[in-house]
Amino acid sequence: MAPNPPSPPRGFPQAANGPRFANPFPQLPEQALLSEDISMRETPDMSGDINSRLRIESPSDDTSEDSLMSDSDSEPDETLTKSRRGLPISTLPTGLCYDDRMRYHAEVAATSAENVHPEDPRRIYYIFKELCEAGLVDDKDYPPMVEQPLRRIDAREATKEEILLIHDEEDHYKFVRSTAAMTNAELIDLSESAEQDSIYFNQLSFFSGKLSAGAAIETCKAVLDRKVKNAIAVIRPPGHHAEPLKPMGFCLFNNVCIASKACQVDAILGQECRKILIVDWDVHHGNGCQRAFYNDPNILYISLHVHMNGQFYPSGPEGDMFHCGEGPGLGKNVNIPWPSKGMGDGDYIYAFQSVVMPIAVEFDPDFVIVAAGFDAAAGDELGGCFVTPACYAHMTHMLMSLAGGKIAVCLEGGYNFGAISKSALAVTRTLMGEPPDRLQATAATSSAIDTIAKVRNVQSKYWRSIYPKEPVAGIFGGERLHDIIRRYQAMHLYDKYKLTQLHIFRDTITRSFDQQVLATPNYETKKALIVIFHDSPDLLASNTGISTQQKPHDTWLVDGTQSYIHWATSQNHGVIDVNIPEFITVPAPAPAPALPADQPGIKPEQQYGTAGLLDPASAATSTQHQYSTSTSVEYASGTSDLARREGEKLASYLWENYIEPYAFPHGIFLVGAGHAFHSVAKLISDNDTVYPALSGVVVFSSTQPIRPVTSGTNHWVTGWYRENSLVYVSEKHSLWKKEKEKQGGKVFSKRYGRLVKSPAEVLNGMMLLHREEVVRWMTERIEQRREAMGSSEEEGEDDDDNEEDDGEEDSTKADADGDNDADAAKNGQASSDADTIDDPAVKGESGNGDGGGIVVSAAGASPLTGAPLSRGDVVMTTEQ
Ligand SMILES: [Zn+2]
Repeated sequence: MAPNPPSPPRGFPQAANGPRFANPFPQLPEQALLSEDISMRETPDMSGDINSRLRIESPSDDTSEDSLMSDSDSEPDETLTKSRRGLPISTLPTGLCYDDRMRYHAEVAATSAENVHPEDPRRIYYIFKELCEAGLVDDKDYPPMVEQPLRRIDAREATKEEILLIHDEEDHYKFVRSTAAMTNAELIDLSESAEQDSIYFNQLSFFSGKLSAGAAIETCKAVLDRKVKNAIAVIRPPGHHAEPLKPMGFCLFNNVCIASKACQVDAILGQECRKILIVDWDVHHGNGCQRAFYNDPNILYISLHVHMNGQFYPSGPEGDMFHCGEGPGLGKNVNIPWPSKGMGDGDYIYAFQSVVMPIAVEFDPDFVIVAAGFDAAAGDELGGCFVTPACYAHMTHMLMSLAGGKIAVCLEGGYNFGAISKSALAVTRTLMGEPPDRLQATAATSSAIDTIAKVRNVQSKYWRSIYPKEPVAGIFGGERLHDIIRRYQAMHLYDKYKLTQLHIFRDTITRSFDQQVLATPNYETKKALIVIFHDSPDLLASNTGISTQQKPHDTWLVDGTQSYIHWATSQNHGVIDVNIPEFITVPAPAPAPALPADQPGIKPEQQYGTAGLLDPASAATSTQHQYSTSTSVEYASGTSDLARREGEKLASYLWENYIEPYAFPHGIFLVGAGHAFHSVAKLISDNDTVYPALSGVVVFSSTQPIRPVTSGTNHWVTGWYRENSLVYVSEKHSLWKKEKEKQGGKVFSKRYGRLVKSPAEVLNGMMLLHREEVVRWMTERIEQRREAMGSSEEEGEDDDDNEEDDGEEDSTKADADGDNDADAAKNGQASSDADTIDDPAVKGESGNGDGGGIVVSAAGASPLTGAPLSRGDVVMTTEQ
């Protein structure tokens, strides 16, 4: 590797793919660290006399009367005079802070080209080059193509005092400083040590880190001082993960936090920025910023990030929407946690219009800092999102309407050189006054709409402009309606069809299901059995948008299940009706911890819900934090995971104890409606003995995930499923978009069953709409069995044989028409969840929503015994 040049290069001294100042890293002569070689450009030395250049504007300074006369005056107070007429702000230049020396922070260990750390020193260089090539910079190699190029702002090292405004001296500052004196071997060891979370160091990391923080300070001060109208700081190492006590996540010092505080404590500039808004659109949650200002009422932190229920870096619950600040800072922390990757322009614009801007306008900041990671950009593999440069420009444009236009954009993450360059260029052009490019796609996905609705509800407590207002369910000690509805259903089903409860005698199954399994009398003696797994009925209500309160007289309960029970009992079929609530109300597994006195609203199931979400490690961490515990976990999507797993256990218990022991010569039908279908899919997929006993499977799904039926040990299952299922899917489901995308080609594999597009949107409406077809289909199949029975009645024991024949036949068919699902299943990738098609769709990819889903581990069978995995053997996939 080329030795480092003794003085910082300007312009483009290296080729586009120039050196990264990689290692082993030579010691720089001390004087090279000073900034004399960085030109001051037109900007005076801001670190020195910033105070002396201050203007103070007061309403009593009425110079408008004589200002025409003093036009040509060159008084020191020129800005003030200017501000009274013309376009005083827009004629100011936009600032740019970039310093090549921030590239000195690099990995010590030589890495192969394929294994380059994503926080690559070239990141800032490519952005700077993009700005130069666009003609926005006054650079000797790239003459500017605009009348007023970017005004260069010089970086300087942040002082120790400035850094200590945010970071702890003993735990943080001294540690980072110590790395400057370490040997390369020590640095490699340090970077690889488990205590360091995604951090590397070399001897110049400390220097680069200080320079990055100082650059952020100077950039912010230049804006506050109106030396520039706004500015962008192209800086690294990034900062928003760095916590007061430790560096982490590629971040050494928290640049934007240090800059915020440094401006606020400035004797004169502090008056200009008593209230600061930090908007963090990096794809990761800025845990460091949140922690630094968690109880600060004067710094509003708003972060949009992929959260994936705590599975995305920095993992844990801190980035969830319930972390709203504490003490005087309560309400000044706003997290917009995306449930999955794959978010795009429509989602970000929707979030800005629905949450960020209303809250920001109400907060009315004096100054706006953007923690601008570009890792949500289309093309960034780490982020997996699809935000375009035009969208970044629009977000910038919206924020420019705040604080009299005083906005400083500071680079955070972003790892695709092309994406960050184009995105940063779009932001810079917008700062300079160019209108943002038009947006191509503006519709938000339903998961974003859902997230935003929940965030608005959480934030409605703290912001007058945000509706609907709480109260959120449960705070009055009320009951969840689904429990009330189930009791009503049980009563009603008893009155009409004499359904009574089937008891669940197993400790490992949640007691929540006690009320949920009902059966017709003597169902086990009937010739045919219909088992219906369904969600709670749909509730449809008009929404005023003002509060979360619903009017009972305006709320309608739609229950499609009863019409099937009515039909089945009229035909003298047996019925087992299983209601699987999406939220499971179970007592805490361990004695519930004593509740803090100020949180009377927490109910046991909420405690459980929280505990269920956390892995022990993050739970342990969270107890160390000063954060208050979330009291509203019913919004957490993890609770439905919990419900799903409990549903699986219940289905297999019912099968073993209430269905399999009895003969139903005319067949068994499984019906799965909504999320509850998951239990059916798992039951068939995981137990080779189930499908031969079935006459058919009927599925209804409006926007719920469509789950595949496959088995790792029996490839006939998939073919069987295709031939013996009816899967109704709402035309609103994202599944059909995929069909459009792949016009002509074979779109859906057999493991999703026989798909039927339904015009209905509401689940229970769908069940009612297709009742006649479904009943006819089931009746035909029952008749077929009955006839087969009649012709072979003497043989008496033909059931099993028939079923095996069916299996053979189906598998042959499957092979004949070239379907390779069976092979896929044989390869051991079978899992009824891995290929689940989710709705709302995640753009561009499938099976990625829902937190990565649940997959059956590796081979689908225990390597030791070859036995199918037990239903409990599911593991969450984790993604970083
Ligand atoms: Zn990031």
